[in-house]
Amino acid sequence: MGTATATAADTDWTKLRKRLGSRLVLPQDTGYDQLRLPYNEIYSYRRPAAIAKCVKPEDVQACLDFASHERIPVAARSGRHSYAGYSVPDNGLVVELSGFDDVQVHGTRVQAGPGTRLDNFYETIGAQGRSVPAGSCRSVGLGGLTLGGGIGVTARKYGLTCDNLVSAKIVTPDGCLHTVSEHQEPDLFWALRGGGGGNFGIVTSFTFRSFPAPDITFFQLTYPAGMTAELFGAWHDLFDDAPDELWGICGTSAGTPPTTNVVGTYIGRTKDLLALLDRLPKPAAREIREMTYLETMRFFAGGYETGFPFVASSRMAYDRIDGTKVAELLTGQTECRIQVDSFGGALGRLAPDDTAFPHRAAKASVQCYVNVVGGRTEAEGRRIVASLRDGLGLGTTGYVNYIDPEMPDWPTAYYGRNVARLKKVRRRYDPDRVLGFAQGL
Ligand SMILES: Cc1cc2nc3c(=O)[nH]c(=O)nc-3n(C[C@H](O)[C@H](O)[C@H](O)COP(=O)(O)OP(=O)(O)OC[C@H]3O[C@@H](n4cnc5c(N)ncnc54)[C@H](O)[C@@H]3O)c2cc1C
Repeated sequence: MGTATATAADTDWTKLRKRLGSRLVLPQDTGYDQLRLPYNEIYSYRRPAAIAKCVKPEDVQACLDFASHERIPVAARSGRHSYAGYSVPDNGLVVELSGFDDVQVHGTRVQAGPGTRLDNFYETIGAQGRSVPAGSCRSVGLGGLTLGGGIGVTARKYGLTCDNLVSAKIVTPDGCLHTVSEHQEPDLFWALRGGGGGNFGIVTSFTFRSFPAPDITFFQLTYPAGMTAELFGAWHDLFDDAPDELWGICGTSAGTPPTTNVVGTYIGRTKDLLALLDRLPKPAAREIREMTYLETMRFFAGGYETGFPFVASSRMAYDRIDGTKVAELLTGQTECRIQVDSFGGALGRLAPDDTAFPHRAAKASVQCYVNVVGGRTEAEGRRIVASLRDGLGLGTTGYVNYIDPEMPDWPTAYYGRNVARLKKVRRRYDPDRVLGFAQGL
């Protein structure tokens, strides 16, 4: 964990308590046990030394100043959804940012705090007729999502969340509050667009470019088990020359044989969508629904409020995914799935080094997901995830927002050729690795 060396027991919290009052929550304080919990319940055992409920940049500055002087681990926490629980450092200081949840629409720009949950984000901007491409799950935080990329249902049309970042305010470990953009500290701004949460500093505000909220047609195609190989071929054919308006997930659930279904959206009307869907095998059932932007975002908001235990990993598919292989990997398994999100379109038209997110030429983002339920241990879950991740044979690639503590050669997988430049930015803004963590740059 960076250069942190002190233990929680050595730490005198009086100074930070003076700055934050009851907003500094220590293990003996009321509410600590609930407040410390990460979304991924695998990491529910973690006990941070303190949680600082920050509401203004000065609070964040005080936390970073304190952590660097006391040499304790420190991490920002926006929405708690880190797959590896990195926003809850054991014996460290959690810089809790859920209080930074103000969202304001100014013309075509949207300003939002990193602690904004996606449901609140969409409700506020959707009510004002605007959209910003972002993720699906209701309780994901804008902070981690944006810094790692941000894949969502309008990504092929409007790009990743980070592609629409216009500027950000960030507190660096030396205590400075910077405003960064294409014109102000462009290297740091570049690094914030895909360089991953937990590196460089703690963001306190984002400003995004927004688009008129489009009407959307939702579709869901349900197939009988055993069609995985056929469906993957047809799905790739469809997306190889699909319009930017079309987005889809090809999701395969474990079973004997596994079942693959397709769900997605089209920015436009049913009649134009049907011509595209006819290129896929005939489903057993087909649901098609025209919705407003806000209804669509609510529909995809899924997820559990309180979290659950899981292990997951990811790959990026630069070539076609072999559906036969997917079927083999999931045959005989339970409670796990491989989910493939379509890439291309606007997000694929940037160069790999235009932002820190490198996987522009990928055809799809692939997620391997294992629920740790029904007596399954974490170790067993990790073995299954590794077999799916490595069995897909998609090279040293992955999505940093689906961060996997056991990802082989993770710097290359997550950042490709952008690693060296990202490390240079990290050395400049966090030379002492105050914010260091196991997969920190
Ligand atoms: C159920 C679920 C659904 C998801 N759906 C999607 C999806 O549709 N699309 C997608 O792209 N991803 C999705 N993700 C992945 C998600 O983008 C990442 O888990 C993301 O990192 C979560 O951000 P957070 O703020 O909620 O998490 P946190 O745990 O708070 O933070 C994640 C990481 O970022 C750091 N960090 C947080 N805030 C800041 C900040 N303000 N400044 C600097 N560093 C910060 C943390 O220290 C930590 O390392 C999903 C995850 C889950 C669990």
